[in-house]
Amino acid sequence: MHHFQYRQGHLHAEDVAVARIAAEVGTPVYIYSTATIARHYEVFARAVGVPRHRVFYAMKANSNQAVLATLGALGAGADTVSEGEIRRALAAGIPADRIVFSGVGKSAQELAFAVERGIYQVNIETESELELLSKVATAQGKRQNAVVRVNPDVGAGGHAKITTGSSANKFGVSFEAAGRIYARAANMPGVKMLGLATHIGSQILELDDLEAAFKRMAALTAQLRGEGLAVERLDLGGGLGIAYEMAAANDDGGERIAAYAAMIERTLGTLDVERGFEPGRLIVGNAGILVTEVLHQNLRPHTTFLVVDAAMNDLVRPAMYEAYHEIWPERQAGPDVPRKTYDVVGPICESGDTFATARTLPETRIGDLLALMTAGAYGATMSSTYNSRLLVPEVLVKGAEYAVVRPRTTFEDLIALDRVPGWIGA
Ligand SMILES: *Cc1c(COP(=O)(O)O)cnc(C)c1O
Repeated sequence: MHHFQYRQGHLHAEDVAVARIAAEVGTPVYIYSTATIARHYEVFARAVGVPRHRVFYAMKANSNQAVLATLGALGAGADTVSEGEIRRALAAGIPADRIVFSGVGKSAQELAFAVERGIYQVNIETESELELLSKVATAQGKRQNAVVRVNPDVGAGGHAKITTGSSANKFGVSFEAAGRIYARAANMPGVKMLGLATHIGSQILELDDLEAAFKRMAALTAQLRGEGLAVERLDLGGGLGIAYEMAAANDDGGERIAAYAAMIERTLGTLDVERGFEPGRLIVGNAGILVTEVLHQNLRPHTTFLVVDAAMNDLVRPAMYEAYHEIWPERQAGPDVPRKTYDVVGPICESGDTFATARTLPETRIGDLLALMTAGAYGATMSSTYNSRLLVPEVLVKGAEYAVVRPRTTFEDLIALDRVPGWIGA
C-alpha cells in the first residue's frame, strides 16, 4: 500500500502533483508520503502486538528528522547504530527510553553517550564490547540494560551484502559463546543483561530462514533459563522485505506482515518474553520516490541511454546491490504511446551509475520527469556528494501539503567543508 498514484494523467504524492514539487524544489528530489509511512507503522505495530511488545524503527533506512518525528508521534522507538543516530532520534523527540543501540563497532565514547542519556537497551555484539559497556556504565555509577546479539548461523536476505545472520558474517556472538557471555554479564556491575537479540539480514521475503533463526533463539532462551539466567526480552531484529515490483504484484505488504506475526506466535508464543522488532525498509521503503529529469538521450545501435539528473550518489542501491527500482513516468502514458527499451543512467563517471538496463518505458523525451519508485529506504541515508554533486533534497507530503524537510545543500557549503593548510599558500 502506498500513496503515489496517477490523477488526471499525472503522478501524485498523496494530493500533491509530483510535477509541482519538481518545479518548485528542483530535481533530483526525494518525495515521501506521510500516509504511507504511518500506515506501514500502524499495520506492523498492530500485527506484532504493541504495546505488550515494542517496535524500534531501524532509522538507518531513513533518518530524516521529519520522518523520525512522524514515527515518534505514533509511538515508535528507534533502533540506532551510531551516536549520530541516537542524537538524531533524540532531536526528533523520540525519548531515550525508546532507543536501542545496535552495531558491531561501538566506541567507548558512543557507549558513554548512550548510557548517559539512559537509553532503553544496548545490543552487545562482542565480549570486548560487553566489558567496555560495563566499565563505561560503572564509571557513571549506572547499570545499563543490555541484550546479547546472537548470530544464529542462518543467513537470509535479498543480496549477499545485506545478509548478516550467517556465521561468515561479522554480526553477533556465536551461538556456542552466547551462553557463556550471558552468564559472565550477570556478574558485571555495569550491565543488566535482560535478553537476546538477532537480525539475520535485509529484504527477506521467505519466512523460513527467519523461522529457523527464531527457533534457535527459543531453544537458547530455554537453555539459559535452565541455567538459572533470566531472559525477559527477545529482540527479533528487522529484515522483512517489501515488493519492489509494485505495479506487477500490487502487494500491500499486509499479508506478509500477517504471516510473519503468525510465524512468531508459532515459534515463540509460549515464551513469556517482551519482543522487540526493528523494521526499517518495511516502514519507509515504498513511502518514498526519487524524482529525476531526463537530461539527454544517447542513441546507440543496441539501446538508447536516458541520461537523468539523479545519480548513484543520490540512490546507490542499483549500483551497490544490483537492486531493481520500478520507473514510473510522471506523465501517465496512454496505450497509444509507443513503448521503447532504455538504459536509464546518471551523469557520474562510472558505468555502475545505472538505474535500469533494457527497461521498457513509454517513449520518453528530454525534459520528462521519471520517478524511481520504492526509494524511501536506504536512499537519502546512503547518499553522498561524490563527483561534488549536492546532497539531494527531501520533501515530505501530507495530504494536500508538502514541506521541504531537507533543502538542497549549496556549493558554498560543500566547498567550505574543506580547509587548505597554510603551507600551500594561496
Ligand atoms: C539494518 C538493521 C535493521 C533493519 O533492517 P531492515 O531490513 O531495513 O528492516 C534492523 N536491525 C539491525 C540490527 C540492523 O542492522
